[in-house]
Amino acid sequence: MKGYWAVILIMIVIQISFFWAGVKPACALADSRDCGRLYLLSNGAVAAAIGSAELWLRVRSRYHKQVVTGCGFVLSCLLYFIVEPFADGAQMAWIVPIVVPLVYFDRRLLLITGGMTSVSYAGVYLLLERPVFDKPLLEFLLVEAMIALFIFIANGVIIRAYEASMELEQLTKSEQSLLVERAISDRLLKIDALTELYNHKTFHEYLDSLLEQCEKNGLKLQLGLLDIDNFKQINDTYGHWIGDIVLKEVAARLRETIGLNDFAARYGGEEFAVIFTDKTLEESREMVEKLREAVERMEHPYAGDKPITVSIGLCEYERGDAKEMLFRKTDDALYEAKRTGKNKVVLCTGAYASLSSK
Ligand code: GH3
Ligand code: MG
Ligand code: MG
Repeated sequence: MKGYWAVILIMIVIQISFFWAGVKPACALADSRDCGRLYLLSNGAVAAAIGSAELWLRVRSRYHKQVVTGCGFVLSCLLYFIVEPFADGAQMAWIVPIVVPLVYFDRRLLLITGGMTSVSYAGVYLLLERPVFDKPLLEFLLVEAMIALFIFIANGVIIRAYEASMELEQLTKSEQSLLVERAISDRLLKIDALTELYNHKTFHEYLDSLLEQCEKNGLKLQLGLLDIDNFKQINDTYGHWIGDIVLKEVAARLRETIGLNDFAARYGGEEFAVIFTDKTLEESREMVEKLREAVERMEHPYAGDKPITVSIGLCEYERGDAKEMLFRKTDDALYEAKRTGKNKVVLCTGAYASLSSK
């Protein structure tokens, strides 16, 4: 629309300069007095066409491209009418309605406006230019050929653009599916398939990076090791398959109990590990205690409905301790829990003091 306004502004400036320079409007259709009025009327009609199109675009939400293209068509007819007596090659104005649908990549619009342009020019030539100005037939044929050529090229551009957009869409789709595949394989690499907790490898990677933070920034960290009590017996009595269900259920309780910033992994067969980073030792102890109770309360109709329990060792990381030391201490706490009757949480503090929750 800005383009239309610019064209009409330039046209008006040119016309005013022509009048100032003393060039009388050439008019074959009217005598010289009416001719000025005819020009004014044409310019007014152009302004009215653009003005109403602007209004439509602001007020209505539909048919925008049809209105802009239609406005281009009216504009080109009137421009041709105004410019034609002054300038050779005014037929260029007929190209406007063919170019505008290109902006929208709309083939239907292109073919309709292209057809309308070709027919309108033929009408102007046969009804006006040939009988009144005696214009040569060759000029008409040349302009019609140019219009047809423009329609043909514009059609090609739209088809090519459509193909390119299709290729782009295909590319985006395959890129998306690649991303999804990568996310899935990433997940498979990091997650234990049975329990859907993080696996051993990921656990160690995460713990390594956290311990670095502990050393550098004094981050607080507690490690909990959890082992299902008498699991071998469950396997032996009810079968491996039931053992797997128990593993899944304990993992589910673990996931439900821990907070968003905590990290749980399946450490080994029936052993799990939890890392707490935003808690005090007491808060972590409360959490693992809650977990122990939740596991104890679980019902297992498929495993004789006997309670299944877990023993847990919990340790806070002390600056200067290496990862191995943290593990040794936590493992010792877990061993202590097993040794002193199972189904309990044992805490190791710096002095190796242990606290039984039962
Ligand atoms: P404790 O109370 O001392 O921990 O005794 P436990 O029987 O739980 O410990 P033990 O280490 O003797 O047995 C662990 C069993 O866990 C042995 C192994 O067959 C079983 N196990 C390890 N991984 C899996 C698994 O993925 N699925 C099942 N069903 N069993 C597993
Ligand atoms: Mg074990
Ligand atoms: Mg066990």
